[in-house]
Amino acid sequence: MATIFSRIVAGEIPSYKVAEDDRFYAFLDINPLAKGHTLVIPKQEVDYLYDLDDETLQGMILFAKQIAQKIKAFSGCKRVATVVLGLEVPHAHIHLIPMNSEKDVDFSREKLILTPEEFAEIASALRE
Ligand code: 5GP
Repeated sequence: MATIFSRIVAGEIPSYKVAEDDRFYAFLDINPLAKGHTLVIPKQEVDYLYDLDDETLQGMILFAKQIAQKIKAFSGCKRVATVVLGLEVPHAHIHLIPMNSEKDVDFSREKLILTPEEFAEIASALRE
């Protein structure tokens, strides 16, 4: 059965798309720690990031880099945290999270609740 992220890539489940190419897809996390919190995934359905072949992993980091630069410009944060953790979805993903302090990347913190309009506005800004 396809993972929820593969279903997002296929358009079966809606997402706020930030970027896409033939191998990778980036979209806003639906439970963001900050405005601009983005997930980067390979279209190839692989559970664990380090099971990706070297070329795909390399490409994914470079794809994430472009988005991180946009997130930084958009949010004015000091850095964009790059986080790989969690066992929730069995599809490799990198979290890109605007941060000004390490506390901003504490996943036990309460997540932001954004309106569909806010999500759409952020995604649109990051796509530019
Ligand atoms: P992790 O496995 O890294 O702990 O969590 C997976 C992340 O994916 C979570 O931050 C969660 O909010 C996000 N997520 C799970 N399901 C969906 C979904 O259907 N849409 C979006 N946009 N994000 C999701």
